[in-house]
Amino acid sequence: MSAVLRFAPSPTGRLHLGHAYSALFTWHQAEAVGGRVLLRIEDIDRGRCRPEFEAAIFEDLAWLGLEWETPVRRQSEHMDDYARALRRLEERGVLYPCFCTRAEIRREIAASPSAPHGPDGPIYPGTCRNISARERAARQAAEPHALRLDVAAALQEVDAGDLVWRDAKAGRQVADPASHGDVVLARKDTPTSYHLAVTVDDALQGVTLVTRGLDLFAATQVHRLLQALLELATPAYHHHRLITDDDGQRLASRDRATELAELRRQGWTAGDVRRELGPIP
Ligand code: GLU
Repeated sequence: MSAVLRFAPSPTGRLHLGHAYSALFTWHQAEAVGGRVLLRIEDIDRGRCRPEFEAAIFEDLAWLGLEWETPVRRQSEHMDDYARALRRLEERGVLYPCFCTRAEIRREIAASPSAPHGPDGPIYPGTCRNISARERAARQAAEPHALRLDVAAALQEVDAGDLVWRDAKAGRQVADPASHGDVVLARKDTPTSYHLAVTVDDALQGVTLVTRGLDLFAATQVHRLLQALLELATPAYHHHRLITDDDGQRLASRDRATELAELRRQGWTAGDVRRELGPIP
């Protein structure tokens, strides 16, 4: 079976040197094993994604000398796939509607000093997990709501000891999805989420090796649980180092100075980018 890798940027801004590293890393890994790279546009966030950023992704990657297969999968065109996965999770009894606003969640967390923290900050306090079935049904029909994963119920459904995955650098891992709390799988404003869409797509596209930055290492714990619940294959993972600025800070899309389009305008070549990034394992 030949390896399938993917590069999955979100068109919410211009690509910068960090994205260039991730893209070059992915194509390099694919070349090393004779695999293919799929380009996927992760555009579920309708408020932040823009067509001009998508066009700029194609332009920047072509400038780096990378090639990809077409048609490119755009997540916004596959909402049916995510809806199907949500129905399956619903049938397994591991979802519940959440009516909380961000402000309400913040207040609740502030009010309980011992609020548990996960990899991305304080975790959801579970407010809507405990409302009665009757109130839930009434409010679900009338109020905007997100859908959250009931992680405790989900862990009852699967064999937690089987939630194993392998990272090329860090080795064998046993996922601890409970550390993330009850994550959102469908948002109020869009009927899916990063965690759900990425897990479903990697499986549907037959991805065998997920390459991405270390900032997403912990997210894999949630993805591994979703794979078990949805009976999807588990790919191998390779989380790579993050590119930082001179002060050791992670590059942010707000920083014009490291945008590929800006560097190109200043006369940089793709070779200059590669030299700047250093060796790519
Ligand atoms: N779309 C995500 C991002 O741009 C990457 C998702 C992934 O590689 O899993 O950060």
